[in-house]
Amino acid sequence: MARLNGVVERLERGQTVPPMYVDCHAHFTSVPQALKQWRNRQIDEIERHGRHMPAGGPDISDSELARALSGGPISLQAARGIDMTLLSPIAGLMAHHYGDQETSVVWSRLSNDIIHRACGLFPDRLVGVGQLPQSPGESIDASVAELRRCVNELGFVGCNLNPDPSDGYWRASSITDPYYYPLYAEMVELGVPAVVHASMSANPAVQGTCAHYLNADTTVFMQLCQSDLFREFPELRLILPHGGGAVPYHWDRYQGVMYDQGRGDLLDIIGDNVYFDTCLYGQRGMQLLVDTVPAKNLVFASEMIGAVRSTDPATGRRYDDTRTLLEEVAGLSETGRAAIASGNALRVFPRLRGILDTDETFPGTGHSHNVVG
Ligand SMILES: [Zn+2]
Repeated sequence: MARLNGVVERLERGQTVPPMYVDCHAHFTSVPQALKQWRNRQIDEIERHGRHMPAGGPDISDSELARALSGGPISLQAARGIDMTLLSPIAGLMAHHYGDQETSVVWSRLSNDIIHRACGLFPDRLVGVGQLPQSPGESIDASVAELRRCVNELGFVGCNLNPDPSDGYWRASSITDPYYYPLYAEMVELGVPAVVHASMSANPAVQGTCAHYLNADTTVFMQLCQSDLFREFPELRLILPHGGGAVPYHWDRYQGVMYDQGRGDLLDIIGDNVYFDTCLYGQRGMQLLVDTVPAKNLVFASEMIGAVRSTDPATGRRYDDTRTLLEEVAGLSETGRAAIASGNALRVFPRLRGILDTDETFPGTGHSHNVVG
């Protein structure tokens, strides 16, 4: 695969390499309807009849997949000058509370295989991030096995970890619980991070994409702050999506509580273990995130095509065009901007380096990759 033409080395020497953008958080939401219909049948069979679907998913051709991608994330990616997108299955459809362990294993494998095929169709554009077959009350072993398959067989560089497999009821333990340790050990061993990403809300009182997701980002941050997880796993890297929920806005509240509890400075707590992505859809929010969290702990992302698809009538810009927002942030150095755009992604997702860094010339994407720093 053609990629960076020495860009990694330049980044390591501290030189800025704008404008390369790696979108660390995106979902294949434009997937052919047949996949969603299969999932609905699977849920119906297990929930209503206690039966599993026969092995084998829906029949989706490569041309259908290519059309679904071209009409969705690939066209937006090209229009925005995003060089590489880390694509994962639809988060809301992970829905781990349905059925049993086998239900989640079959659905996760199917979803990940579709992502693998998508990446194969656009190898210069897409890299896979996997879904885990979590299942409430079951061992984490199936997730460990699927993670291994995703990385070793499908070439994925990370995974999505649902912090609430009960999907809106928070019946599961904290993600810092030793229950998750075998998964974290495997992540460290494989050199892959997790995006800690909630799925749908089955709780009618809690809306999914704007309440449950952001609640989850916020909740997980406090779980991490009040644990010693990173003493157990100093090389573990977790990404809190959607700008970290309420965290930037309430940063000083969290900091004060940490001092109250004798746990010290928040920046020391997040260290090189916790990262926030830039899935914030307004200039004020993006500015606050960048002003609050050090650039070294931020990774560029848009979640396209995700929860928000509208255009802001005030600017004529799609809300999820986060590259424009990041470029308009005030007071950010070129080095910091380059780190957020792609430099940090190479540290957080080290397997990207092997995919991106070749001797070949970077393919034309309509904008320059010249080193300026
Ligand atoms: Zn997402």
